[in-house]
Amino acid sequence: MRLRNKPWAKDMLRENDQYVIQDPELQKGKWNEVFGNNNPIHIEVGTGKGKFITGMAKANPSINYIGVELQDSVIVGALERILEDPSPNVKLLNQNAEELTTFFEQGEISRVYLNFSDPWPKNRHEKRRLTYKTYLDRYKELLIKNGEIHFKTDNQGLFEYSLKSFSEYGLLLKFVSLDLHNSDFEGNIMTEYEEKFSAKGQRIYRSEVQYRS
Ligand code: SAM
Repeated sequence: MRLRNKPWAKDMLRENDQYVIQDPELQKGKWNEVFGNNNPIHIEVGTGKGKFITGMAKANPSINYIGVELQDSVIVGALERILEDPSPNVKLLNQNAEELTTFFEQGEISRVYLNFSDPWPKNRHEKRRLTYKTYLDRYKELLIKNGEIHFKTDNQGLFEYSLKSFSEYGLLLKFVSLDLHNSDFEGNIMTEYEEKFSAKGQRIYRSEVQYRS
């Protein structure tokens, strides 16, 4: 993600605390109260400028969505989208996914979305990949029993690595597409990166995996 310096971003995120939840560790175990209902909660890790999460929230009003993004200058784009066209079922966290288990109780989350995660191609950076086993441990700690990870990328190397990582972890492969945009998959909501890469003719890979417990 190309970063533009936006010195105003931090203040804007703080001022809109009905959408960008501050001190999310205080909400651990209480996210249904934050949304004011008992609907399932899905999170997107590395949500970027929020095209996917806001599109999903509009398309699925009976699911609650939380976008988690590290960079304040990026997530502020997601906030701007929400302010332009608000939905009651979407919130944002300007946080590092390494901390996910401090924000969510076991079983609070029904699904994790990973879209166009940074590939970190060098072997010595493997631990930073969002599909590395320590991340799979973190997702397991907050997901419901038999919770799912839905993953899209344009990066063949990261996709192959991730399928191997999921398999070694013992996750069940429920869906795989090696060319999403030329498949019969319905209801795809594109992300910013997906739009950019598919416009250049790159194929999009997608998988759904499920924890066995
Ligand atoms: N998902 C968006 C899309 O498909 O358009 C953005 C993709 S971008 C390549 C990856 C995003 O993940 C970046 O905005 C980056 O800051 C974020 N990210 C990477 N590691 C993260 C982490 N540990 N916690 C939260 N966000 C992270």
